[in-house]
Amino acid sequence: SLSSTAVLANGVKMPKVGLGVFKVEKEEELITAVKSAIEIGYRSIDTASIYGNEEWVGEAIRQSGINREELFITSKVWNSDQGYEAALKAFNTSLEKMGLEYLDLYLIHWPVEGKYTETWRALEDLYKEGKIKTIGVSNFQIRHLESLLKTAEIKPMINQIELHPKLAQTDLRAFAAKYDMHIEAWAPLMQGGLFENEILKKLAEKHGKSIAQIVLRWHLQNSIIVIPKSTKPHRIKENADLFDFELSQQDMELIDSLDEHLRVGPDPDNFD
Ligand code: NAD
Repeated sequence: SLSSTAVLANGVKMPKVGLGVFKVEKEEELITAVKSAIEIGYRSIDTASIYGNEEWVGEAIRQSGINREELFITSKVWNSDQGYEAALKAFNTSLEKMGLEYLDLYLIHWPVEGKYTETWRALEDLYKEGKIKTIGVSNFQIRHLESLLKTAEIKPMINQIELHPKLAQTDLRAFAAKYDMHIEAWAPLMQGGLFENEILKKLAEKHGKSIAQIVLRWHLQNSIIVIPKSTKPHRIKENADLFDFELSQQDMELIDSLDEHLRVGPDPDNFD
């Protein structure tokens, strides 16, 4: 069901499927999308300060009338706000914009060299104060994680990375598993780049499902959390309707064979 959750390292439960709101730049569109997702049964929303829509996410939550404790809200500290003091301030700004008293997950958006260690200390302190239920990183490569783990008091519970069948991230997944760190896929649908793929089309026909559902099911069967983005209620519903079928081992291997280490987003080794 939609309420299916992953248990993070500290015991907090995170929905395996959430709604991403990157590039939703119109207030009306965002509020409609988030409210319909909540109505459909979504409980997890992924935003970031750089998306410029945190205020509307907060507004949509209030309009939906749902209890705050039922939701799992993620935001991220932007690159220009990294460092200890700046990150604390950015976090408070995000909370204020959303009109919330705590976040469920707060992530370091990108591994800004020379800064992310101090940014992490800020997240740890906010976590200890109870203002964030779980803390994590995004776009961290193995070398960034290794470096962070040397000084971290609390290990990142999530690494949110670009991950889809053409960028399967097998090394990062294996590394994360060793540290009880969950992987969360951004661009799980490769931002729309998978819908013409013949292998995926055949699997979709075989299971009577859409390509989006096949791909997202592949993530789930690999224990990867997904946050597909759509503003259309019928697609929002489709993207969470993943729990009434199963890909076989052979289906999974066919999808694994699509890996080309192909990114649609920035390269974390060379993003700034
Ligand atoms: P995505 O892979 O979720 O693809 C979204 C695109 O696919 C949209 O154009 C949408 O119209 C289309 N789509 C969605 N569902 C569909 C369906 N069922 N059928 C056909 N088309 C469909 O890409 P994304 O938005 O980049 O990633 C998802 C979320 O991840 C973002 O919204 C954001 O919250 C997060 N994200 C994080 C980072 C990061 O650096 N941490 C970067 C990018 C995105």
